[in-house]
Amino acid sequence: MTTPSLPDPVLAATGVIAGYGRKTILHGLDLHVRAGEIYALLGANGAGKTTTLSLFLGFVAPTAGQVRVHGADPAAHPEQARRMLAYIPENVALYDHLTARENVAYLLALAGQAPQHAPIDAALAAAGLAADAVDRRVAGFSKGMRQKVAIGLALARRVPVLLLDEPTSGLDPQASAEFTRLLGVLRGQGVAVLMVTHDLLGAADVADRIGFLDAGRLVEEVAASGADRFDVRALHRRYGGQAA
Ligand code: ATP
Repeated sequence: MTTPSLPDPVLAATGVIAGYGRKTILHGLDLHVRAGEIYALLGANGAGKTTTLSLFLGFVAPTAGQVRVHGADPAAHPEQARRMLAYIPENVALYDHLTARENVAYLLALAGQAPQHAPIDAALAAAGLAADAVDRRVAGFSKGMRQKVAIGLALARRVPVLLLDEPTSGLDPQASAEFTRLLGVLRGQGVAVLMVTHDLLGAADVADRIGFLDAGRLVEEVAASGADRFDVRALHRRYGGQAA
């Protein structure tokens, strides 16, 4: 019997050594995320999670190893790599004086895409933003609503990669559950999702794989399996100290 080969990873870091100046943070990182896969990267403060995102964004260049975003090298061709991805930071920055729809239209135009009404409204609806919020200025939006606008933008851009930094921190349980549902929608569209988080339970809810980063090394990867997906108690016993 032959095993079907897995598709090439959309996000790939292979043997990456990287850091800031003479300070090495990532010591031979190997991390691969495939289309339609949600990967949660956990680790203590300072383990190198945000540095890993910076690597894929082309803000940090490896001194050894290889980084690819949908085939593009973000250090050599950052524009090419960034066209392939949407990045949602912990606190989403939007133009407060613009409405949700205007924000998406403007940011789409900046990304070089024609900002058309109907697809923007469809994307914001798919992201779970209430219809009566679409035409409101985002100044008064909650963190969860801002995140929905950012995810709406990612959906409208139809990018193959989504990077998320601490997406559930500060969200109430209902907003977290809604966020989990949204990531499921993106997975269904074949998007490769890499999220860095301290939220072990949230990661176990949504991720297909969880990786644990310790001092710039991926020390373990666990894949979801069966109805229970992850043995959360075992994960917590093992990593609760560093990941909680
Ligand atoms: P946290 O959970 O606290 O966000 P993290 O796992 O995301 O941590 P990083 O932000 O990647 O960790 O930081 C890893 C190390 O790199 C830390 O020691 C940090 O001080 C250092 N570092 C981060 N950014 C810079 C920078 N721009 N210049 C120099 N050192 C940096």
